[in-house]
Formats: sequence, C-alpha cells, structure tokens
Amino acid sequence: MVPFSSCPVCGGELVERQVEKLLRGGNNAAVFEVQAEVCLRCGGRLYSLETMRRFEQIREKLEHGYVEGFQPLGRSFKVV
Ligand SMILES: [Zn+2]
Repeated sequence: MVPFSSCPVCGGELVERQVEKLLRGGNNAAVFEVQAEVCLRCGGRLYSLETMRRFEQIREKLEHGYVEGFQPLGRSFKVV
C-alpha cells in the first residue's frame, strides 16, 4: 500500500487499480502490469515502495539486456 489516503498532488480520491507501466533501461523497454493507487481526479499514479524497488530491479535488468526471465504479459518486449 502507498502511504497516502488521498492524492498528494490534488487531494483526490485514490483507488487501487491494475495498471500498465512502461519501463525503460538502456535500449530496452518492457510493459508490466502492476498494482497502483490511481487518483480519480487527476489520474496520477502512486506505487508502493515495494513496487518502486521492483521497477529499479527491472530497469537494471533491461539496461544490461537480461530480459530472458521476464514475463511480458501478452506483449512483446520492445527493443528500440
Ligand atoms: Zn490527484
């Protein structure tokens, strides 16, 4: 869970949603589905600390091209 009960940007209501997050690292990019708190008013997304850490790990892997174990969740990796 995120440490907010309302949106820190606009004060709007937050709802838990499954969202798609595009991560880039080096020349690689991948789309992941994650849980996020989404603001109903401004559409801002908040991620838990755990999710943020996971993003960092994924970015690092993308940067080094270690994408073999990734599950692209129905979408292919984009190598740009
Ligand atoms: Zn907001």
